[in-house]
Amino acid sequence: MKCVKCGGKRSKKGKVAHSVTVSGVKINGELAGEVCSACGAQQIDLAELERFELRVAAALAVHGVCTGEACGTASLGHPG
Ligand SMILES: [Zn+2]
Repeated sequence: MKCVKCGGKRSKKGKVAHSVTVSGVKINGELAGEVCSACGAQQIDLAELERFELRVAAALAVHGVCTGEACGTASLGHPG
């Protein structure tokens, strides 16, 4: 995979630390991806990222957080 940062072609498979914070809940993960051996830029595998987002949605459900993104429905502005 070509590096998006420096354009270098030498990258190796590795783990990329990734975290997202939704409604104050932080979810950390280590995703499979590629690390550029020239500049160190990290690129996460898209399929991995999708899997992580599913885990995030599940984790948010556990925390009782329901956002438009996590639940797949837009907020309609419920009172209270
Ligand atoms: Zn690079």
